[in-house]
Amino acid sequence: MTTEIAPGRRVIQGTPGAPGIARGPWARFEPGRAPVQRQIPADQVDAEVGRLSVAAELVAVAAEKLAEDVRSGGHGDEADIFIAHAAMARDPALIDAAANHIRTGLLDGPGAIHAASRSVADLLLGLDDELLRARATDVVDVADRIARELAGAPAAGVSLTVPSVVVGEDLPPSVTATLPREKILGLALEGSSPTAHASILARAYGIPAVVGVKGLLAALAEADATVELLLDGSSGEIVIAPDAADVARFKQQAGRAEQDRRQAREEATLPAQTTDGTTITLLANIGTPADATEAMELGARGVGLFRTEFLFLERSQPPSEDEQVAAYGQVADAFAPHPVTVRLLDIGGDKPIPYLSLPAEQNPFLGVRALRLTDTHPDLFLTQLRACYRAATRGRIKVMAPMVADAGDAATLRALAERARDEVVAAGQDAGEVDLGVMLEIPSAVLVADSYFDDIEFASLGTNDLLQYALAVDRGNAALERYRDSLHPALLRLVKLSVDAAARHGIDLSVCGEMAGDPLAALALVALGIRCLSMGAHSLPAVRRAIRGASLTELERAAEAALAATSAAEVRATFAKLVDTAS
Ligand code: PEP
Ligand code: MG
Repeated sequence: MTTEIAPGRRVIQGTPGAPGIARGPWARFEPGRAPVQRQIPADQVDAEVGRLSVAAELVAVAAEKLAEDVRSGGHGDEADIFIAHAAMARDPALIDAAANHIRTGLLDGPGAIHAASRSVADLLLGLDDELLRARATDVVDVADRIARELAGAPAAGVSLTVPSVVVGEDLPPSVTATLPREKILGLALEGSSPTAHASILARAYGIPAVVGVKGLLAALAEADATVELLLDGSSGEIVIAPDAADVARFKQQAGRAEQDRRQAREEATLPAQTTDGTTITLLANIGTPADATEAMELGARGVGLFRTEFLFLERSQPPSEDEQVAAYGQVADAFAPHPVTVRLLDIGGDKPIPYLSLPAEQNPFLGVRALRLTDTHPDLFLTQLRACYRAATRGRIKVMAPMVADAGDAATLRALAERARDEVVAAGQDAGEVDLGVMLEIPSAVLVADSYFDDIEFASLGTNDLLQYALAVDRGNAALERYRDSLHPALLRLVKLSVDAAARHGIDLSVCGEMAGDPLAALALVALGIRCLSMGAHSLPAVRRAIRGASLTELERAAEAALAATSAAEVRATFAKLVDTAS
């Protein structure tokens, strides 16, 4: 959306990438001209494949060196990105595909590696999972560096004579990490997303960033580089050629954001208690050990969902048992004595992991994903479970299985867990206590809960998938937006069935789908009897505030009407009234 307000001045709305305000001249990141690609004669095929391998290895070594530099600069987690790049440069799936393009299409090395990376990137971009989609940039970045190495072409870059806001289509991670930090005021990217590495690195380095700014480059095409840019990385707003009023407004916004952050941290120690005294436990959803810090600062009393898939991405093989013990142990240490719920690997179907070579499926969401992979890949799960038992000696670990459909799946979880525990003990290692539980994200698992709830210690409602399966609404399809509302009475009835079953069998029940992080939906869940909510850390302050402003008695009264409602809109209106009167 572009709004012309006065000559030269433009306001453009993007997506927040990294918080903070930046103001100054801008400099365009030039991706650099890609090396010219050509066909090669058939008798040069072997030599070209050889050159490709050498170039890929040189890029891998350079990525490892960059990782060392980034690590010695005090950014250990970010250094891992470049370790992953080294693995990508050595990934046989990428290099063999490129060699194939050389052999069958007589493409030269640069052309072949670009073609191979494009296929991988297209595959990633077509996925539902935002984290996986964001990895497409990394694959293209690595391939581009291999192509430049082959062609002796100069690296992509930006020339910064004065501190500036760096503007571009996208910023490859290798460039983001190597830009002179003292000269970057902020980042404004036409492409990219909050989960892409450009944003992750910007947050780590404290560089304000706005991403997904449609129309930015066209808007700047006529402007010279001395024209000022003003951006707010928290709201996603960018002003080209700001006037004095903009500057004053942004200053105010920065002050308010700082105050909000301070208040959220102060309130983090307050209990999430309703006005009539019922306390709700708030937990965090995390993807990596690094997410634990923010979650704790915002008052999470443990982790309700550790999406361990993240540890398995961007590598050429699964993390070892010891690496996993370190990752789970680190989070368990940080949150002790509170629990950390490790979700077993939820991959397959729409979340492929290249090194597992899982076959493509017609209906990936209804396919061989998550726990259903235990038949063909038992070792993946056994390694993960052994790591959980070992990490449980350091803190409280709970293990949760995704995509459980019925008692048979719950039994599979227990059998695998017992075997893993025996293996740890047989290896002479210490095994801690681990609670076993399931995600309720397939409607059948809720409907037959009585048949297996005595065999598990806890359950957590995965409302993202539960909604998708109960209402037949593909969670990644933007065209189905009007059908996708977690306050649909059908979903609320499934929640109520789960609450009642958990009470009958005396097991703990929480909610870890996105619904828990929406203040209004969170109140609906509390109304239905949920007493533990797990959400992305940034949602904790708003949900805590909503609960502290609500009366359980009134919520429970509304719950009856919600369960009998005929549409999500009706439910929303019912609870919205309560929020209005409560606040
Ligand atoms: C869910 O399905 O609600 C859930 C929490 O898991 P994910 O979003 O990772 O599928
Ligand atoms: Mg799910």
